[in-house]
Amino acid sequence: MSVLLELERISYSPSKISLFRKNISSEVILNNISFNLEKGKTLGIVGESGSGKTTLAKIIGGILKPDEGILNYNFGVNTNKKGNNPIQILFQNSNELINPSRKVGNMLNESYESKDKLSDICILLDIQSGLFEKFGHQLSGGERQRIGLARLLSVNPELLILDEPFSAQDPDSQKSFLSLFKKIKSELDITIICISHDIYLLKEFADDLIVLFGGNIMEAGDVDNIINSPRHPYTNLLIEAFNYKLKRSDFKEDKNQLLKNKGCSFFSRCEKSSNKCLESVDIIKSASLITYCNHPL
Ligand code: SF4
Repeated sequence: MSVLLELERISYSPSKISLFRKNISSEVILNNISFNLEKGKTLGIVGESGSGKTTLAKIIGGILKPDEGILNYNFGVNTNKKGNNPIQILFQNSNELINPSRKVGNMLNESYESKDKLSDICILLDIQSGLFEKFGHQLSGGERQRIGLARLLSVNPELLILDEPFSAQDPDSQKSFLSLFKKIKSELDITIICISHDIYLLKEFADDLIVLFGGNIMEAGDVDNIINSPRHPYTNLLIEAFNYKLKRSDFKEDKNQLLKNKGCSFFSRCEKSSNKCLESVDIIKSASLITYCNHPL
């Protein structure tokens, strides 16, 4: 398989002051993020809120510019003939894709030149014709996601980024979206990055996984390997949190510690930490796993 996306030591710091809102940007810091994504694969990115998942998605999608590092997409070849961005992002609320005062039918007809193609996508995404008469503000959360996806797919993206697509959904809806995304992947041959805080939903869908904490990669590699035999203390904690249904409030982080820390961003919460972890982190590579830790499990 060929490499579609390559990130080399990408760093981002939210030091910019918004000229319009006069406040500090809410984007999260990222440190030295490096990974490759092969064409046709699905990459899961897991981490709790504030870990930098959405900031990373925005950098990959070209919405934010990194302070340092190199991002190669398809090594400069944009195969999207109409000049649309070949990387499209479905954000949680789809606000930028759904106009609340317009009818769904008008929005979709405007996105698609070919009625046949629109009809194929509606069948794929299970968008019933009755939805065409609804206004944007009348859509449920699930309907918004399907219409948002339909609009994104109109430009034939090569890489689709799904930002927390399962959040605020009941288990039945999560299952139905999971099978929908699998169908999109197999029928449209799209490379996908799926961002979630739910490591087990990603196990169902992703080939590879990146575990992010405090803007740093903790562990990366084959999704089954990571979940079945985690080597990083944070990955282990994430898995335990789901197995024992620990509450999010049990895992409050010390943000000041994270931002000041030159070594491991997980230091302030790690039971295995040593003084070395404040200064540097070892990179341990095996056949299908990279672990960033001085004292792995
Ligand atoms: S042992 Fe050290 S490097 Fe590993 S997760 Fe804990 S603090 Fe980080």
